[in-house]
Amino acid sequence: MVCVQGQLGLEGIPTRLVRVTPARLATWARCPRRYRMTYLDKPASRSGAWAHSTLGAVVHNVLRAFFELRPEKRSSEQLPALLRHYWKSDGFGDAEQIARYRERAHGWLRSYVERLDADETPLAVERWVSAPMGSIIAEGRVDRIDERDGELVVVDYKTGRHALTVDDARNSLALALYALAARRNLRKPCRRVELHHLPSGRDVGWDHTDESLREQLDRAERLAGELQAATDAWEDRGDRDAFPPLTGRHCSWCDFRAHCAEGRQAAPDVEPWALLGE
Ligand code: SF4
Repeated sequence: MVCVQGQLGLEGIPTRLVRVTPARLATWARCPRRYRMTYLDKPASRSGAWAHSTLGAVVHNVLRAFFELRPEKRSSEQLPALLRHYWKSDGFGDAEQIARYRERAHGWLRSYVERLDADETPLAVERWVSAPMGSIIAEGRVDRIDERDGELVVVDYKTGRHALTVDDARNSLALALYALAARRNLRKPCRRVELHHLPSGRDVGWDHTDESLREQLDRAERLAGELQAATDAWEDRGDRDAFPPLTGRHCSWCDFRAHCAEGRQAAPDVEPWALLGE
C-alpha cells in the first residue's frame, strides 16, 4: 500500500493520503487475499495468460494507436495493419480459435470506428490522471477523454462477453474517480462517463451529479480505509488474517488459485479461454 504524508488533519496533525487506483480498490473488494497476493506479497507465480484479457488488451492497444493517427488517416482501412501489429495469442486454445477471435476483433473495431464522428478528436488517449481527494489520491489510466460542449467525457472501452446497462456506467467506481481526477488535472467540468462495449456495439453512459460523485468518493474512501488498516496490521504485526479469502465463482479465473486452497475448493478449474464470449 502506498501512503504519502498529506493534508493537515485536525489540529494540524498530518494525515496519510492513501494512493489507490480503481483496480486496487476493485481487487480488495473482490477478495482481500487476492489483493495481498497481487500487491503486497513478494512476486508469487501467477497463472498463465487469459485469452479474454489478451483480447481486451489488443483491442485497447489498437484503439489507442488508431486515435494517435492524424485525423485524416483515421479510417477502418488502417485497422488490419494495426491489428496485425498488436495481436497476441496468449491464452488462446488453437489456431482455429485464434483466427476466429482475430476476425471477430476486427469486426468489432471496424463497426466501432465507422460509427465515430469523423470530426471528433479525443482530448486525451490513455491519459494518466492523479488527484488528491478526501483521504485518498485517486489515479489511473483513462482509456479516452473526450471534450463535448466544453465538458470532459470519460470513456472506457469494454470487450467482455456481457452487454452492459446504464447501471454499469452509473455504478462504476472507476469511472467516477476518473471523472473527479480528470476535472482536477484538466481543469474542466466533467460529469459524463461512458462505457463503450465493442462486442455489442452499444455505448452506455451516465451524467453524474456532484452528489453522486460524492457518494462514489465516499465508497472509494471506505474501501481505501479498509485496505490500509489491513495493510498496517500485516506490516506491523504480520497479521495475514487481515486478508481473508472471499470465495466465489471468480476463484475459477483468479491468477493465484494455485496458492489458495479455499479458492480451489470453491470453484472449478477452467480453460484459459473460458471467458471469451461466443
Ligand atoms: S482463489 Fe478466490 S479466495 Fe483465493 S485468492 Fe483468488 S479470489 Fe481469493
